[in-house]
Amino acid sequence: MPEHVFRIQKASAMGFCSGVRRAITILEKSSKVEGPLQTLGPVVHNRQVVDRLASEGISSAGGLNEITGGKIAIPSHGVSPTTAGELSRRGLHVIDATCPTVHRAQVAAKKLADGGFFVIIFGSPDHPEVKGLLGWAGDKSRAVTDTQTLSAESLPKKIGVISQTTQNKDKFLAFITELLESVKDRFTEVRIVNTICPTTSRQQESAVRLSRKSDLVLVIGGKDSSNTRRLTEICAAQGVETHQVETAKEIDPAWLAGKRRVGVTAGASTPDWSWEEVIDKLKIFQGKLRT
Ligand code: SF4
Repeated sequence: MPEHVFRIQKASAMGFCSGVRRAITILEKSSKVEGPLQTLGPVVHNRQVVDRLASEGISSAGGLNEITGGKIAIPSHGVSPTTAGELSRRGLHVIDATCPTVHRAQVAAKKLADGGFFVIIFGSPDHPEVKGLLGWAGDKSRAVTDTQTLSAESLPKKIGVISQTTQNKDKFLAFITELLESVKDRFTEVRIVNTICPTTSRQQESAVRLSRKSDLVLVIGGKDSSNTRRLTEICAAQGVETHQVETAKEIDPAWLAGKRRVGVTAGASTPDWSWEEVIDKLKIFQGKLRT
């Protein structure tokens, strides 16, 4: 294998966030003390983590109909009050691993709705966290990623705006600016609550800095992980060659040809062992580690 001459540089903020670490600790403790359990949907959007937890007796139920035991865990991205109520109604032992930052967004959604605001959530309507937030906001709410899909004329005069916790801060600001422009002649009150997770912002800012000083950036994380995909978009937008990989096996040595500075970052749902494996693989390409 030809040896490549490049420096490996890690993002200053990357990998597992406190919310995901906390959820996994809660689940592992519970399974050790009380035996196997299920989570309502994958605990994180990372196949390697889900597989490892399954080997410890923590499996994932695809939906309410797939719950087979007497215990169910709510993952870090939370659920709607209706879903939580249904779990209690069934008499299940519920282990709540909702991230405190997600819960803060849920409370913000409810407070706005209770205050008579139509709640607009800046986020993907299909994402489990956003589905939960819509449930907390109730009937008078909508989740969108751009203002074009909102018909400004039909919006009520009191509007509340929050964001999916893992959205990009700059995009949220741009969204708010466009929204204000479209309702400027008719609104009476607009209330904005910044519910973006500080860890997400730190990881995104650090990905920008990393991209600016790299010739190639590898973003490690699940293909279904929205925060990892966002990091990939952010790095690519800086004009640097960017590849998202789930495991070290996916690295194509051709990417490294002629590169002097290889940056590595990882999504909030990416475990340490995953990005450490990628760094070890890069060291093998450098000739500093042997297989
Ligand atoms: Fe919580 Fe932020 Fe992690 Fe999401 S990214 S689980 S909001 S700490």
